[in-house]
Amino acid sequence: MPRDSRFDVLFEPVRLGPVTAPNRFYQVPHCSGMGYQWPATLAAMREVKAEGGWGVVNTEYCSVAPTSDDTPYPHCALWDAGDVRNMAAMADAVHRHGALAGVELWHGGLRSANFHTRETAIGPVSLPTATAPWQAKAMDAADIRAYRASHKAAVGRALEAGFDIVYVYAAHTYLLAQFLDPGINQRNDAYGGSLENRLRLVREVAEEAQEVVRGKAAVAIRIEVNDEVRTDAAAEAERREMLALLAPHVDLFDVTITDYTQEMGVSRFVKEASLEPFIAHVRAATGRPVVSVGRFTSPETMLSQVRRGIVDLVGAARPSIADPFLPAKVRDGRLDDIRECIGCNICYACDGLGVPIRCTQNPTMGEEWRRGWHPERVNVVESRAKVLVVGGGPAGLEAAHLAGKRGFEVTLAEASGELGGRVLKECRLPGLAEWRRVADYRIGQLGKLANVEVYRGSAMTAADVRGFGASHVLIATGSRWRGDGRGRTHRAAVPSFSDPRVMTPDDILAGRRPVGPVVVFDDDLYVTAALIAELLATEGLQVTYVTTAGMVSSWTGYTAEQARGQARLIEMGVEIVVGQSVLALEAGGARLSCIYTSREHVIPCSGLVTVTSREPEAALWHALAADPAANGDAGFATLQPIGDGKAPGLIAHAIYDGHKAARALEEDGPLPGRERVVVG
Ligand code: ADP
Ligand code: SF4
Repeated sequence: MPRDSRFDVLFEPVRLGPVTAPNRFYQVPHCSGMGYQWPATLAAMREVKAEGGWGVVNTEYCSVAPTSDDTPYPHCALWDAGDVRNMAAMADAVHRHGALAGVELWHGGLRSANFHTRETAIGPVSLPTATAPWQAKAMDAADIRAYRASHKAAVGRALEAGFDIVYVYAAHTYLLAQFLDPGINQRNDAYGGSLENRLRLVREVAEEAQEVVRGKAAVAIRIEVNDEVRTDAAAEAERREMLALLAPHVDLFDVTITDYTQEMGVSRFVKEASLEPFIAHVRAATGRPVVSVGRFTSPETMLSQVRRGIVDLVGAARPSIADPFLPAKVRDGRLDDIRECIGCNICYACDGLGVPIRCTQNPTMGEEWRRGWHPERVNVVESRAKVLVVGGGPAGLEAAHLAGKRGFEVTLAEASGELGGRVLKECRLPGLAEWRRVADYRIGQLGKLANVEVYRGSAMTAADVRGFGASHVLIATGSRWRGDGRGRTHRAAVPSFSDPRVMTPDDILAGRRPVGPVVVFDDDLYVTAALIAELLATEGLQVTYVTTAGMVSSWTGYTAEQARGQARLIEMGVEIVVGQSVLALEAGGARLSCIYTSREHVIPCSGLVTVTSREPEAALWHALAADPAANGDAGFATLQPIGDGKAPGLIAHAIYDGHKAARALEEDGPLPGRERVVVG
């Protein structure tokens, strides 16, 4: 279908100093969890974005010198000729599709603990590093000269590697941002104090970058429009002046704000285009092209941003991860094929865990090189064999979708009246409405495949499955929350939890409610328990949230939502008890035990919601697996459980498992590779 001509403006080229972006789709620098350790993985991932139509594709943060080492967090580097070769692999891959390649040159300053290089951290002042109990050295004149030289040399290596855009990275609390920030920079030399002095290092680095690129590449700056600490009008005015002073030295402003939990906010707290009110002035103030982000998934919002002159380029990290082919789909008028980001930040969590990013919506993310997966292309089979998928949650939906795309004759049987499984329930928790996109995207795609039949209200028994005549059977029957307390802390069932006052998240989501004061026991540590507590508090119940961890939803530290999540419960009046497990439910209340001292006490309550672990719904699978001969008679070539029915996990796991199973049908591919350095 041809695209609506209104969107043509998104496909206009944009001049960035000496280079021209072929369109307005701009993949901003974003963490990939790949960095210098996995250059082929990185190049393949970035290449798919360029192929999908992003006019500019950037690296993640790319260290300029060994004094800036963020290990164990994966980052790129341009320290030497070997790095040039590896980074050239990415630039070449991006160029193959006509896109510009950008590199975000980075120095972490006093944030870098330098665990790997063991160099002394450096910063404008001597303060503790971000992740270790040791401090940076306050940079003296020689350190400043050395840093400038290393940045300049890295710009030269970036050119050698073939990059078209080099960044001066003055945001996100790293070295240059530390110099800009009067809260941190309390130097009394030419690099501290006045605005001009604090700006000096950024200006010098930008000027020196321009000297090196000499019209062969654009110099971009990533910078915040506000101060980390000061929020008054004077600080705001000073930032505006700062941007105007920098304008003559840069070709592009990539602008953001200091609150990372908003810039990178989960959809639970932050909606699309949330930075607009903060950054709308930058274009007029600088006279330079501007790019910014906003988890833009709607082409209408993108268009509106450009039309109203908020940005010249539509910046995206997560939308380009969830759908590397988003620009191509807009270009080709296939808007309903866009796989929209749900704002869960599982991608970001993976980077924090030191592994290549994974995406809930896009199971091929990070697997482009290792498994050779492409987000749009699949191996089509000739056999047209029959595939039966039982269960229409994320695992079943993804498996049916992929198997359908591959040309199998697919039947998806779902017991309930609606497709979506756990997603349908979870998206009703406070703030999680966008999670529904996981089901909506797949239901929409299934509807386009003539070779996929969907039966709702079809609870399958083992006899039904065997009688169906399928060659391949995928059992995606999901899981249910346990009510017996078993989980990380209680390995065996807690006897008193058989009390009818105990409920699970499934009960709450099915509409059951505890009466009176309630304890929500979180031994799961992701979002469910906190969201149940929030939900019940909103409905007026007195809620105590008890967790075995040291903070609310401790795992969400990885998804950049922990602080906001804890603040939300505090603001809702939920009492928070940390470092305790619920040992028993008694007549008078819940008996808690301190996880450090085992000291016990009782808090009064009338109800308990346990959020501890889930039980795979494996009865159908077990019934089938118990009789291989009958399965042979039924003509099964393959039979396997997938998703939560196999091992409960995140939605991302269910999607990945369904995808992997459907990719593997009638394929004898080699085991996936693992990228590593070979000695010698
Ligand atoms: P996953 O995350 O692994 O996809 P979900 O729990 O989200 O798992 O979804 C599992 C789905 O399977 C639910 O929609 C459930 O109604 C369905 N289901 C469970 N048992 C059967 C069955 N015997 N026949 C058909 N559908 C089933
Ligand atoms: Fe969006 Fe979640 Fe995918 Fe990240 S993991 S890109 S937040 S859907």
